[in-house]
Amino acid sequence: MKQRIRAHLVNSVMVLFAVLTVTVIAYAFRNREKGELIYLIFNAYALIAVLLSFLIILFRQRAAKRRQLSKKKRLQNLTKDLASPAMLWDDTLRTVILNDTLRNLAELDPEHAADPKHVLSVLFGRETVSEQDIPEIIREKNREFCFVTASGQERDMIWTTSAVETEENGVTWYLSIGLDLADIRLMQSELATYSKRLIVSEGRHNLTMELMDVGILLIEQGNRNLFPSDKLRQMLGLKDDVLTVEELRSRVYPADLVTFDSRCRNMHDHMQDYLRKTDSVELRLSGADGQYRWYSYRFRATQNPETGRLAVGGIVIDISGEKAKDVQIERIAYEDSVTGIPNRQKLLQMGHDLYRCTTEMENSYWVIVIDIDRFHMINDACGYAAGNELLRQFAEAMNRQLEHGGFGARISGDNFALILRNTGDPALPEKVVREIQQSLSARSAGGLANISLTCSAGYALMPADGESFEDVMEHAEFALSSNRSMLGGISRYTEAMHDAIVKENQLEVRLSEALANHEFVLYYQPKISLETDAVIGLEALIRWRMSPDKIVSPEAFVSVAEKSSLITQITRFVLDEACRQAKVWQDEGLPEVVMSINFSGADFYQDTICEQIQEVLRKYRLDPHCLEIELTESLALKDIDLTIERMNQLRAAGIQIAMDDFGTGYSSLSYMQMLPFTMVKMDRSFVRHLEEDRVVQEIVFSVARIARSKKIKTIAEGVETPEQARLLKAAGCDYAQGFLYGKPMTAEETEAYMRERARYRKGYRG
Ligand code: C2E
Ligand code: MG
Ligand code: MG
Repeated sequence: MKQRIRAHLVNSVMVLFAVLTVTVIAYAFRNREKGELIYLIFNAYALIAVLLSFLIILFRQRAAKRRQLSKKKRLQNLTKDLASPAMLWDDTLRTVILNDTLRNLAELDPEHAADPKHVLSVLFGRETVSEQDIPEIIREKNREFCFVTASGQERDMIWTTSAVETEENGVTWYLSIGLDLADIRLMQSELATYSKRLIVSEGRHNLTMELMDVGILLIEQGNRNLFPSDKLRQMLGLKDDVLTVEELRSRVYPADLVTFDSRCRNMHDHMQDYLRKTDSVELRLSGADGQYRWYSYRFRATQNPETGRLAVGGIVIDISGEKAKDVQIERIAYEDSVTGIPNRQKLLQMGHDLYRCTTEMENSYWVIVIDIDRFHMINDACGYAAGNELLRQFAEAMNRQLEHGGFGARISGDNFALILRNTGDPALPEKVVREIQQSLSARSAGGLANISLTCSAGYALMPADGESFEDVMEHAEFALSSNRSMLGGISRYTEAMHDAIVKENQLEVRLSEALANHEFVLYYQPKISLETDAVIGLEALIRWRMSPDKIVSPEAFVSVAEKSSLITQITRFVLDEACRQAKVWQDEGLPEVVMSINFSGADFYQDTICEQIQEVLRKYRLDPHCLEIELTESLALKDIDLTIERMNQLRAAGIQIAMDDFGTGYSSLSYMQMLPFTMVKMDRSFVRHLEEDRVVQEIVFSVARIARSKKIKTIAEGVETPEQARLLKAAGCDYAQGFLYGKPMTAEETEAYMRERARYRKGYRG
């Protein structure tokens, strides 16, 4: 924050200097005849300005460098603290920093030690390392790398690499932690001997094992018993010299049970795979003192050459100390800084692991994606601090649902995700989200008292609803977007949703092509005065001309365009074309009418919408009174204050505004009172029932009366019969639009219609 204020300050000073310098130059130029003194002052000033600008630039560069250095220092210290061989490097491959352990182990030849690319290629056992190799290096978590030290020793390593920090300039830092396999090789050769003896002694643990001072665990094919070494029994506080899988399982930390089960099964079913590779598993077990500690089990299989039976064995090491440091590193890479809960990366990692478990263990998980409704309003209305506070409270409410297991993360802005084990209750996701909604509605952080807080959710089942974790997540997000318009909605993903969204996506692509290929055209529908029968306006209605004989109605594509930014591009076309056409007709001497265009929420809420409209009006030299914007009341609902502000701007510019589809919302009348409309367009549904329903007649009458009292004009849409027109006129309605007078027509048809109407009226008047 301080840095930002300082940067603003420096920027302001620089701008001030620029302005001052320009002023002095201008002044000196205007007074150039007045002698040399003024030139002297000018030169002195210019010199000071240049000097100061130079100093400011220098100061800013140094500050940026300092910031970068402090970040690098923090990561470097972290690496230094690690007992394992570790190195820190960046994706430009210009820096690599080894910790002491790795430096001692690697014994790099001094000649090449300063060349990061060389160091990385040696340690990763590759001929060369380039930026393209980075994704592969990260993926190769269990590959053994072999490198030769300067003294000629071969070293086998397994590297685990992850991104730990991305700087403002886009440079990403990676941390690679290595596992030296030399000690494990030793263990393996010894294991072959143990295993042989073990099988010979028919399952009894042997003397050699007792003498070893490391925790060793042997698992024999087809035998439910596990054989711990003395040291391991001591470490875990085991009484017997054999232990069953169930006994070991009862000591596993609950959150690690999924890992334990999947690895156990895998080990039993695919034991021969481990003849070729060493693998490891890390989990928490309750030790001799009843406390949970982190243990690593690195194991490999061997085969008794005499009996052919397989056994898996390996060393168990207490890695709690290492883990504590790992936790620190994880925190940087995997924790969301606002809420302190895991971030998207961690969710993806966890999701992948769990997805693998579901296929191996035949269980399933719910993946729930949650979105805080109208979060942007809270941010806008109450500020970022209140917004962040709400995010924290939300994370807390979500975490409370995880007391019986599960995983929660913040995946972006106001999006959260939950993974819950499927207990067989299909209503579980909905119950959990309802609980979160309840605790959310009980809150009012930082002046949010008058905004009711809710959240919407979509969920899917893993693995049934997708072929990978990403797939399942995407489907849960589909389900969430399917109820986007409904506050507090909760939906389960269905196949039909997928099809609809795929179709929608295809349509979106086609729409942007249509825009580029000028396939959109405008049709115009006349608006008639019930009093004089004259055409008072035209509504521009968009059509998609796919081919000369295939015209698509806006109902088929406007809602899809509204979900993306396409609608604003479409509206820009409509605005331009309608104004151009209106001016052409005026210039041709046709009667002056008001041209109406329809606006969506996204159009209306653009910051520069008023300027955009005025620019088009200027371009065609069209009077602002000749343009009307039609808005629906649902649009006003989104943000009432901003709506009023925007409408006032448009009204001040002389543009007219109509409330479209009046009567289809919840509180049409109150909006009519509150918002500065110039016209109310009564929805077709009123007109349809006008003839047979007296209540509808009463309503139309009242609306017209209230509107008149507020100097708002009224028009009825969808007028199809002369009787409807008569009743509307009797109720006090000003204008009408509908098939009775004319359907939406092409520009040529509209022009002919207007000419015909003008001629007829002239003749009618005599
Ligand atoms: P809307 O603004 O309420 O437009 C009136 C719709 O009612 C038009 O349908 C029109 O053809 C139809 N209509 C007019 N008179 C009658 C009648 O007597 N009987 C019947 N049954 N229908 C009548 P259209 O052109 O299909 O437009 C549908 C909706 O699409 C419009 O409703 C408007 O919401 C939207 N739309 C059209 N053009 C645009 C546009 O350029 N931008 C945006 N954002 N939306 C548009
Ligand atoms: Mg309209
Ligand atoms: Mg309408």
